[in-house]
Amino acid sequence: MPSLTAVLRQALHLVLPVDCAGCGTALADDPIPFFCRSCWADIRPLTGPVCPRCGRPFASPVTLTHSPHYLCSACHRRRPAYTMARSLYPYAPPLKDAIRLFKYHGKVRLADALGDLMTTAWPLLPEVDLMLPVPLHPARLREREFNQALLLADRLNRRLRIPLSFDNLVRLRLTEPQTDLSRAARLANLRQAFVVRRPGEVKHKRVLLIDDVMTTGTTVNECAKALRKAGAADVYVGTLARTL
Ligand SMILES: [Zn+2]
Ligand SMILES: [Zn+2]
Repeated sequence: MPSLTAVLRQALHLVLPVDCAGCGTALADDPIPFFCRSCWADIRPLTGPVCPRCGRPFASPVTLTHSPHYLCSACHRRRPAYTMARSLYPYAPPLKDAIRLFKYHGKVRLADALGDLMTTAWPLLPEVDLMLPVPLHPARLREREFNQALLLADRLNRRLRIPLSFDNLVRLRLTEPQTDLSRAARLANLRQAFVVRRPGEVKHKRVLLIDDVMTTGTTVNECAKALRKAGAADVYVGTLARTL
């Protein structure tokens, strides 16, 4: 006959995910939803030399030793519209699993834990006047029911008291998922997709765009163009994670 604990655990399984989404071990009183303490402790900030402009990590630790302003080849070819982008963590398991659960499976309970990760690594980002989340198109927002970038920015606003503008930067065009497209197709897809509704709010300000993951940087760059056009003095980009 199965023990009472086993029966309870099985019953609990029906309503709660009781195994860690990272390693599969049974969760007990772990404070982070869906993850065990040890998996969560494995999430370490990105360290080491990065491109001063876009934040892309350099393979060699000596890249910046002799020329601290050396840009990566992508930034060299085409200067981004933003002043500087920094990602706080590598987009790798278990953080990758957490972001996917959060974003695509509606596990918004992870927002606090992910917001805490951003807050912890925050000193890597510059001081700003205003934060804006990368917006979702209204149709996508209806489908997903929340904007993951806004949930993260909201945590930063509450914990670090950085002013947040959540509805000034808007997405006018519903764009296809970017990941499978070539660079030219991504650009065509996003051209003039973003607009600033109240330019006065960002004019001459240092603003910070917030997103969950930076991949190619095309999306944040298009947002940065809209903010520059509206008169922002500096546009910084801060993302929780970055694909490597
Ligand atoms: Zn685990
Ligand atoms: Zn770069």
